[in-house]
Amino acid sequence: PFDVLVVGGGPAGAAAAIYAARKGIRTGLVAERFGGQVLDTLAIENFISVPYTEGPKLATALEEHVRDYEVDLMNGERAAQLVPADADGLHEVVLANGASLKAKALILATGARWRTMNVPGEQNYRNKGVTFCPHCDGPLFKGKRVAVIGGGNSGVEAAIDLAGIVAHVTLVEFDHKLRADEVLQRKLRSLGNVEIIVGAQTTEVLGDGKKVTGLRYLDRSSGESRELALEGVFVQIGLLPNSDWLKGTVKLSPRGEIEIDARGETSIPGIFAAGDVSTVPYKQIVIAMGEGAKAALSAFDHLIRLPVA
Ligand code: FAD
Repeated sequence: PFDVLVVGGGPAGAAAAIYAARKGIRTGLVAERFGGQVLDTLAIENFISVPYTEGPKLATALEEHVRDYEVDLMNGERAAQLVPADADGLHEVVLANGASLKAKALILATGARWRTMNVPGEQNYRNKGVTFCPHCDGPLFKGKRVAVIGGGNSGVEAAIDLAGIVAHVTLVEFDHKLRADEVLQRKLRSLGNVEIIVGAQTTEVLGDGKKVTGLRYLDRSSGESRELALEGVFVQIGLLPNSDWLKGTVKLSPRGEIEIDARGETSIPGIFAAGDVSTVPYKQIVIAMGEGAKAALSAFDHLIRLPVA
């Protein structure tokens, strides 16, 4: 068995594996797709000390760094089931291919994915005006017009954030009212360069073949189709943690995030979690890496306290 088995190969999982392996303990990493969300990212400008990089380049660097250590790297394998330890003290991860991996400590770092609108243009113009991350891409739209899709807390927070950077923000909400906290709504309504449209179903992202030029929506009250001219669309309709395979084991939040304490430990001793799949606030590369490192150190701390066999 492994001392530490990491599930997930994004920034959190890579950092966890390196920190664990550096303790000289038997470390494994299993990932469906090593690199994670980073592979889908174009420009990265907020990975501190690296002013500019690109996702595939960072993903390669992550893999090279992990391979510098004795980590048993199993890429292209999906974890399908977690069986927490019983008397033998070993946690078990069953893979989709039927194989089973056992470890004294686990670090769950399976990340998350953005919910998409599933309308024409959204995929074509991804990274060409369509984006999901205001912290990452807000500055790219300095002086431009953008829409934020979604009137929950994350959408309204994004609109407030962006209003300080871009020329104009249109917040588009499907429902007939915003769902965000009242204090956020008040802040949003106080801003001069923000327009709020409710009862609006986005039907298409418009573009000129190279980049976004606008947004088409259905006014659900009148039944009319309308268009907005703009350069950017921030989709903020939810982040879905990749935690379906964990149901009934570690405690999940109402949103499906793995609940962790300040040390990264879940509700089950010896099982830790890190990064976007966890309840840690703010989903960013630099945060996921720190969380992965923290979970690995906590896992090591757990191992050295286990009774001597
Ligand atoms: P992920 O990167 O999601 O990695 C999860 C890993 O787990 C993957 O290897 C995946 O294959 C694996 N996995 C999932 N389920 C299973 C399973 N059942 N079994 C085995 N393996 C599994 N952040 C920034 O800081 N700056 C940016 O500029 C930036 N831009 C972004 C642009 C885009 C388009 C996107 C989508 C995200 C961006 N982010 C950015 C956010 C950042 O990518 C994430 O916060 C970060 O990747 C989270 O790392 P993670 O390791 O927690 O999860």
